Amino acid sequence: MGYLEPILWAIAAVMVYVTARIIKYAGRAKNELEHSLSVFLLAMMASMFGGATVYFLYRGPESLVAAVAVSSAVMVGAFIPVLNTLVKLSSTQSPPPQLQGLLSRRVGGRLLIVLLAIVNEVLMGWAFALASAQLNPSTGVVVQLDQAVASYWFVFPMAAEMALSSYYFRRDFERSVYIVFVFQAAIMVLTPTAIANSRWEEVSVYVGGSMMTAMFIYVFDYLYKHRRLNSVFGEYIFRLLVVYTLMMGGLFLWMVTQQPALFDASIVGEMLIYFDGVLSPLRYAESKQRSWLLEPSWTFRMLVAIFAAEFFMGGVFDLEYYGVHTFLSTLTLAPLMGNPLSMVGAAAYNFVEAFSLITGSAWYLIMMGAEMGSLVVFRIREVKVRETRVRLTLMLLAYFAYAVLLPYFVIPSSELPNIPFVGQAMGIGTVSPVAPAFAFGLVTTYLIYGALSLLFGSRALCSVTCTAATMYQGTFYDVMKSFNRTTKMGRKLLGSRITKTYKVVSTLVWISLVAAATVSYLNSTGRINLTVYGEDAAQFLYSFYFNFLWYIVFMLIPFIGTYGCVTTGMCHWGMTNQWISRLGFFRLKVKDRNTCIKCPTKDCSKACPVGNTDMPGQFIAKGEFRASKCIGVGDCVESCPYGNIYFYDVRNWLREKLGAKPKTTAEIQLNQATKS
Ligand code: SF4
Ligand code: SF4
Repeated sequence: MGYLEPILWAIAAVMVYVTARIIKYAGRAKNELEHSLSVFLLAMMASMFGGATVYFLYRGPESLVAAVAVSSAVMVGAFIPVLNTLVKLSSTQSPPPQLQGLLSRRVGGRLLIVLLAIVNEVLMGWAFALASAQLNPSTGVVVQLDQAVASYWFVFPMAAEMALSSYYFRRDFERSVYIVFVFQAAIMVLTPTAIANSRWEEVSVYVGGSMMTAMFIYVFDYLYKHRRLNSVFGEYIFRLLVVYTLMMGGLFLWMVTQQPALFDASIVGEMLIYFDGVLSPLRYAESKQRSWLLEPSWTFRMLVAIFAAEFFMGGVFDLEYYGVHTFLSTLTLAPLMGNPLSMVGAAAYNFVEAFSLITGSAWYLIMMGAEMGSLVVFRIREVKVRETRVRLTLMLLAYFAYAVLLPYFVIPSSELPNIPFVGQAMGIGTVSPVAPAFAFGLVTTYLIYGALSLLFGSRALCSVTCTAATMYQGTFYDVMKSFNRTTKMGRKLLGSRITKTYKVVSTLVWISLVAAATVSYLNSTGRINLTVYGEDAAQFLYSFYFNFLWYIVFMLIPFIGTYGCVTTGMCHWGMTNQWISRLGFFRLKVKDRNTCIKCPTKDCSKACPVGNTDMPGQFIAKGEFRASKCIGVGDCVESCPYGNIYFYDVRNWLREKLGAKPKTTAEIQLNQATKS
């Protein structure tokens, strides 16, 4: 077998080159003849590999005859359209001139080329896997196909073909489309199923996942910079995200069950959309533009697709890092039995638990941090106000130290509930029941956060330490704050007033919190025995709100606007600190009310990601803005063209009391502008 593999690889390399050239030829076909010839050439290759597969499957004299028959049938079948075209052309005096890229406008023709290219690759992978004895010909056809597509005989030639055809079409697309194509080829190489080796699996999961994360960051940045987006490219990105969701879901399933079927289907799906993409340069060039910020439904499905892909990617990282058994053993599921109602209850509980297992895991948070954190870094580069730059930097550091490093890798989980500020970071239920044994950690956390909110405003939590801040404040997500003002629900939640929705939601949230905390306390002191399918009530509620519902609210940005956790009143922890902040020193002040009166644009009201649009009115009336819903993001300070707004907190108050000249954000900004 020693010489066989190099020979097969040499053949594979030639086939990759030839297929990529044919795809290029097909993509640039100007007339029917060129299109038919491309089909014929691909079909010839398919016939060759089809014959080889038949031969290796049923070795023997009859199989030779069958192989020749299969090859001839495919070849003759594919030659008929060429012949027809030739006959047609010979009877036409002057064929009408066609634009280069005939296939761009022909879905059927494109599909034929794409399917033939895929069939070629599948057959080649199958034949070579059989020839190199990696497949057992006596197993079922579906099993063999499954293993062939997951093997390197399919994956590596496919990746090479994608890379080569991306190169060939590099001038036919704008640079960003080409970059996405290249990312795809690189991700394809790093397929964990390709080589049956644990080292390869480890490297490909981490490097491939990082590559996919980098591609998502690139796409986010692209969308941020192209608010008017090429429709065809937008659809391409969406389909790619759906395929990557299937790919990551398939990989998750493969790591747990060793069944690659879903993963294989996703690879084939990716090829389908990839080749369909490269064969459509004219569609890109002629596509209309869409303003995605004016299309909530389109943006919503993008966000769902992005979340789904990231969700499974986080799960795959977790499985690889902790090991399948260890990671899944932390999942406690309710048995599905009893009457229909209890079965539905158990199923809903299991769904939330499985969802939270990943969204509350270290690797999901690391991956999200890398992604969202990069967008925050892009944002820092754009921000002019020093105080906001400092806050955004602190926010990033807090995310990695406080949401990932300390709780998951430094502090043992048994000690976490007793560590003030870090352990019970989101209040009741974060990491422990409401029990006397954990009272110190819980009470001190409330006291520290309460003191910070009183002195500096709730920005210590909602704009620095809460992971939500990093998620909302990167470039791509920040720009979606326009949905606060353009959607029906977003408009209902606008302003610093307490809306009807806020009252209803927050009342329900507080009732559930008090009930869960009481049950948790009574249960932990042994007075009752009541849990949610064996889980502490307060911890379940924490998980439900922050690991499940919060993400749903996040994906609903296109319908309710950004910072739904603040505007709807769904976060009791944020609300507690926001109300303490309202009673404390923190507020926004303006240097000169007259500037606001004369201000024609009122930019501050449009810049607030929470939707505090009534800011200018209060500046004019009182010279300051105080509201529980002001969480100190500071976009208003940044946006005011006159540098009129500044943050006011205990530091300013102390300076005033000590008779020192107050130092305002606006002054810092103006000083910087003067220096530069
Ligand atoms: S309201 Fe809650 S979830 Fe939202 S930023 Fe504040 S603490 Fe975080
Ligand atoms: S704070 Fe600035 S942007 Fe807002 S109303 Fe006053 S002058 Fe205009």
